Amino acid sequence: MTNDVGTNWAGNLAYSALTLHKPTSVDEVRRIVAASSSIRALGSRHSFNDIADGTAELLSTAALTGPVTVDRERSTVSVGAGIRYGELARELEREGLALANLASLPHISVGGAVATGTHGSGIRNRSLAAAVVGLELVTASGELVRFSAGDPDFDGAVVNLGALGIVTRLELEVEPAFEVEQTVFEKLPLENLLRDFDGVTGAAYSVSVFTTWRDPDVADAVWVKRRPDRDAPLEGTLFGAVAADDERHPLPGLPAIGCTPQLGAAGPWYNRLPHFKLDFTPSNGVELQSEYLVPRVHAVDAIRAVRELSAEIVPLLQVNEIRTVAADELWLSSSYGTDAVGLHFTWVQDQPAVQKLLPKLEAALEPFSARPHWGKLFTSGAQDLDRLYPRLEDFRLLAKRLDPDGVFANPFTDGLMGR
Ligand SMILES: Cc1cc2nc3c(=O)[nH]c(=O)nc-3n(C[C@H](O)[C@H](O)[C@H](O)COP(=O)(O)OP(=O)(O)OC[C@H]3O[C@@H](n4cnc5c(N)ncnc54)[C@H](O)[C@@H]3O)c2cc1C
Repeated sequence: MTNDVGTNWAGNLAYSALTLHKPTSVDEVRRIVAASSSIRALGSRHSFNDIADGTAELLSTAALTGPVTVDRERSTVSVGAGIRYGELARELEREGLALANLASLPHISVGGAVATGTHGSGIRNRSLAAAVVGLELVTASGELVRFSAGDPDFDGAVVNLGALGIVTRLELEVEPAFEVEQTVFEKLPLENLLRDFDGVTGAAYSVSVFTTWRDPDVADAVWVKRRPDRDAPLEGTLFGAVAADDERHPLPGLPAIGCTPQLGAAGPWYNRLPHFKLDFTPSNGVELQSEYLVPRVHAVDAIRAVRELSAEIVPLLQVNEIRTVAADELWLSSSYGTDAVGLHFTWVQDQPAVQKLLPKLEAALEPFSARPHWGKLFTSGAQDLDRLYPRLEDFRLLAKRLDPDGVFANPFTDGLMGR
């Protein structure tokens, strides 16, 4: 039987659900869920694996965006889970407010990003999920349940992989709006990165190192996002890398038209922290992604391990982004309990070849307790995940309590839940 639910953003997955619900209110969500035996939320479709697939029905959160309500006393904003970060940024701009960080592009739904532990970069910046202080969830019975920071199960309910129910609202911490200056430095000698990893990645508020590994001794670029109100001024060189003389794209040689402004020009947080512009809607990406988060103490050894494999990686790689994430306490966050470094791989769109390489890459990163990004391609088995996530069993119990009949279960979470 065919359906018209369509594909994920990358086009590498056609959702198998036969029905796509598009509710416009929480009451409607409750009715749909209460009547279903197999359903889960679908956000902005930016995941690369089958985490959002495999239920009989899907429920799009696209129309569940508002209202956006600011609580100035608590310094929070409450939003519908389907709102995209870019849309939220526009609302916050009007209020003179900001989120602490954003991912590489602003087109991702807040509910979907939080559910998978999505993050940006910055040695002091936690995952986007760590900004959540409250959430409302429609559980399998159609009941609306609220979790607030400090509640016993709150830390388990935030990064939830869609397995606990449909999140309809989220309350996020905000702060006064701030400016950021973005500068790209090119040709960082790899030895300098390995010698002072914390120096390079701590050079400003948010730093990403990009490399294609075509030259294993040189990282192509360092994207530095500096907060003039906090960070020391930058010079023309950074650990041997030299400031670019024009705007750049993360993929060497591509036009920078869709990228956020660079060359050190100050601008609003939401138009510098992501690499890509809000008003530039990327077409379906001709790419696949994987990412592994290792404790930051292992950063240098993990990068060396990737370099060892560079001959096999290069033919499939578009670019490798190395970024940092501060620790949080969310049970299934890939930076749970540890400052982490994300080794992110943008691959060419050859899934069989990428899937063949991943076990080798994962074996090379295994000594460093690498946690895979939940929304990207990986192959680690359930046993590994138990070792990597000390609170996974607690999450299983929480899921069993909220969803005893597995209404939100799918093959992805079945593996994880040991079903
Ligand atoms: C071009 C691109 C760039 C990216 N950049 C980054 C990056 O910089 N950093 C990073 O960490 N990741 C990044 N990602 C990965 C992305 O952030 C995650 O895959 C994220 O889950 C996408 O959110 P979504 O709304 O599209 O989720 P979907 O793919 O729609 O769903 C993902 C999961 O979340 C669940 N879900 C979605 N909404 C809800 C809800 N309201 N309630 C309960 N469960 C829900 C779904 O059921 C599913 O299990 C990127 C992806 C792409 C395609």
